[in-house]
Order: sequence, then structure tokens, then C-alpha cells
Amino acid sequence: MSEKDFEIVCAKIEDKKEFLNSISQEIWKMPELQYKEVQAHAVLTCALKRCGFQVQKHYFMPTAFRAEFCPKKDVGPTVAILLEYDALPEIGHACGHNLIAEAGLAAAMAVKAAMEEDNEIKGRLVVMGTPAEEGGGGKIQLLELGAFENIDAAMMVHPAKVTNIFPRTLCNIRYAVHFKGKEAHAGACPWEGRNALDAAVSCYLNIAQLRQHIKPSWKIQAIITKGGTIPNIIPSAADMEVHMRTPTRSELKVLRTRVEACFTSAATATGCEVQFRYDEANAYENLITNKVLANIFKEYAERLGLNDGSDEVKRILFGSTDMGNISHVVPAIHPFYSIPSEGINHTKHFTEASGSPEAQNPTLLIGKVLAMTAIQVFKSPQILKEVKINFETMMADELEVNTDEK
Ligand SMILES: [Zn+2]
Ligand SMILES: [Zn+2]
Repeated sequence: MSEKDFEIVCAKIEDKKEFLNSISQEIWKMPELQYKEVQAHAVLTCALKRCGFQVQKHYFMPTAFRAEFCPKKDVGPTVAILLEYDALPEIGHACGHNLIAEAGLAAAMAVKAAMEEDNEIKGRLVVMGTPAEEGGGGKIQLLELGAFENIDAAMMVHPAKVTNIFPRTLCNIRYAVHFKGKEAHAGACPWEGRNALDAAVSCYLNIAQLRQHIKPSWKIQAIITKGGTIPNIIPSAADMEVHMRTPTRSELKVLRTRVEACFTSAATATGCEVQFRYDEANAYENLITNKVLANIFKEYAERLGLNDGSDEVKRILFGSTDMGNISHVVPAIHPFYSIPSEGINHTKHFTEASGSPEAQNPTLLIGKVLAMTAIQVFKSPQILKEVKINFETMMADELEVNTDEK
């Protein structure tokens, strides 16, 4: 990337910083849950249209979109910048997806500006609005519907408490568990009942005991979402939601068997029946960070004064994301960048941080880095070749790990 491109990117984002902040604020003030991001969809598609992108609203699903800028038809690669904008129940934008949308929009505007000035930037810039990251697997649905065909590289950024340009995220599946018991008068003849809440509590304790005997990188989260109506009726039904996460798919298979034993044994002990299922189509894959793309990202981040997190940070496994599924199909990056916050993602502290003025400078900076990374890919066929080679190598390693592990 030339010095001139560098200047264009920085100038464009600086020039538009108030506009970008206003978009982010609008999304933050009206948090919308998975697949219901109507307002965010409207705000972002309107902004992209005003900036001169060709916009397809409701792309494959009501709150997804695709915007494109391609000044020289059919020449060069296609690079997609991904936006998220869904929130969490009750605590709003506690994952800062309003800032993901802002940084992605900033990068898109800056790449477009550089494309207009520099004839050597050849290719198709795609901005993809991807709903429902928080549990709905929006990107997985888009992937299955063909939205990522013909895309050479996909990139996005995510705010966090710490910076990590080469993150690992975990495979994730979500079980719905239902215990069926038998109701009875709790005071008069409890012996006639079978207590489904007892089954759920036993199951919860089974899982708690299992945790000591699984790898530290494996995670199980469980909550009881239904446990009866009033105390004087023996609960005949109880529901749980159980999430499991592991670094690889083969480990997940092992963990699933052990957790399913917690479900069935709880049912047996309490004389209840159990039904459980997980949504296979909504299973999140681990994230495969493309090293070539991430190294370019790191180089520009450092040039703008942002250093990657420490080795200690890099050992942390950052939750799960549906970007993981994209990264198994298309070379991808999903760097985390730090914003000032008292708490980590999914806390009220982070909601506050995502809407605060202090989040703006890091978000604009990361938007510039994202734009510069995309421009590098557009400008150098050699880099794109290396990106693809790295993708093939990492996928082969992934296949080996999943074949070897028992
Ligand atoms: Zn989140
Ligand atoms: Zn998130």
C-alpha cells in the first residue's frame, strides 16, 4: 500500500468521525436482539447508500444486507468486510456490536475513497451485514445460502477488554434439555409425583462435578430456565439450556457424550424422562485466523500505535463466534481490539463502554487498520496467493487434529 493510500484512509475516517459515531450511537441506543435488528439494518443500509455503495437490503434474510463497490468490473479479488449489530437480552450492547458496525463502515468508506483515487486498487469491495451473532448463527445461515461464494477474504474486528490480533475462539453448541416428571399435591401426597425440578437440579450438579475432570479449555455453561409453577405442586416439567465449548470439533464430540450422561443419569435418579437436542445447523466452529492477513493487520496496527496483546492475553480463549464457520470456508480474520472498560464483554460495564466517547478513538483506529489490510489484498496478487496457501495449510492442520483426537 502506498503512502498516498495510507493518507487517504486516515483522512477519510478522521473526516467522517462524527458521522460514524452517530451511526454507532443510534444502534447502541436501540439494542435489538438476533434477527430483529430492523433499526440497525435501516441505519446501516441507508448510510452505505448515501456513501455510494450499491446496496441489497434484506439479503437472504430480513435483517442481513450486502453492499458493494466495484469501480473496475471483474478485475481483482473480492474482499468482504463483515458487520455485526445485534445486542444481548436485558443488557443491550454488552458485546459492543455497534462498534463492529462502526469500524466496518469506517473501513468500507476509507477503502472506497482509496479505490477512487488509486487505479492500482483493483477488485470488488463487499460490505456484509450479518445479523444474529449472539446465538442465532446469522453467518452460518448466510454461508449455507451462498452469501460467501466468490469471496476471497473476509474480515471484521471486535471490541474487547484486551487486544488480540491472532485470537482462538471455541467450537460451541447449545442444548435444550427437557425433564418430564409427574405432578402431585406437594403437601398431601408427594410420593405420587416425580419431581422434574429435582431432575434439573441433579443434572446441574452432575455437570458441576464433571467440570473438575475435563480439560481446562473445555467449557460447560448451564441454566435452569423453567422449574415449576408454585411450590405446592410437584413440578412435572423443567427446562435447561446447556452450552458446551471446546477448541476442536473432535473434543466437542467427547464432551457431548459425557454431558449427555449427566442429563440421562439425572432423569434416571429422579424417575423422570428426559429429552434433549441441539441445533446442529447452529453449531459454531472454532476460529481459524489467517496468519498472512493477520500479520498485515498487525503491521498497520503497530504503525498506528496499537500493539498486539501480551502472550498471556493470547493464551485466553475468547468465547465463540459464527465467524469461526466463515473462517473454515474463506480466509478470514477477526481481531479483538481493546476499548476502555471496567468489565469484559457480556457485562453491563461493557455496555457502558461500548456507548462511551472513550471507545471512539480505538474504534476509528481499528477501522483504519481494517481498511489498510483490505487495500493490501486488493493491491497485491502475490499477497492473495499467500493468503490462500496459508488457508489451505491451516485447514489441512485442522483436519489432522480432528482426525487424530479421540
Ligand atoms: Zn458476545
Ligand atoms: Zn460479540
